[in-house]
Amino acid sequence: MTIILKKVNFMKYTHIIKPNIKHIYIKVDKKNNIQLISSKKMRKEALRVLEQKKDWIKRAIEKNQSKIKRENIYKDGGVVYLFSKEYEFVYVRGKKDKITLQDNKIYYQSKEHLYPKKAVETWYKDRLKSYLEPKVLFYAKKLSLFPKGIKYRKMKRRLGSCRYDDILTFNSMLAKLSFVEIDYVIVHELIHIKHKNHSPSFWKEVEKIFPNYKEIRKNITL
Ligand SMILES: [Zn+2]
Repeated sequence: MTIILKKVNFMKYTHIIKPNIKHIYIKVDKKNNIQLISSKKMRKEALRVLEQKKDWIKRAIEKNQSKIKRENIYKDGGVVYLFSKEYEFVYVRGKKDKITLQDNKIYYQSKEHLYPKKAVETWYKDRLKSYLEPKVLFYAKKLSLFPKGIKYRKMKRRLGSCRYDDILTFNSMLAKLSFVEIDYVIVHELIHIKHKNHSPSFWKEVEKIFPNYKEIRKNITL
């Protein structure tokens, strides 16, 4: 395998030469690295393809950049997301620990401000609950699929889950997402009551409610 770093027009790309491949591949990874992969024989042809695919590459890069990164910064003057909206995180002195929302600010009242992350995450759970539960009922009726219970938990990777006994668990960090994204997760888990897998028939049911579910899924970052 030979790797060559090159530049064409607007883009830097890496040309990877592999001995036994028949096709030409172009990849754009999450860090916007562009890879052109071909055999040595098809080197020139590959360049032509790269030129042809210029617009596709540009779009892929744009898509990567438009991916909303909702990263909370738990310090005074930092940022905290709620339902996809950005709020300034403000420390307030007070005996009792509490979090309040006003205008574009989230006020974290505490005596010593020791556990801002923990405070926000507990608060997230309540906020999520009040949005999510009526929505679960709404979609449950629409789909005629009723969960046996709803739980909340902070999870590293999963957005939600549906147990064999039809109890749904939602990641409390979903409170950072937009309403459409949360609704998608609700519908996804409800349909698992009927299909305990990700088979084509599962996705077909999801698609009935969210024809653009692929687009929604792609943009979800917790
Ligand atoms: Zn699933």
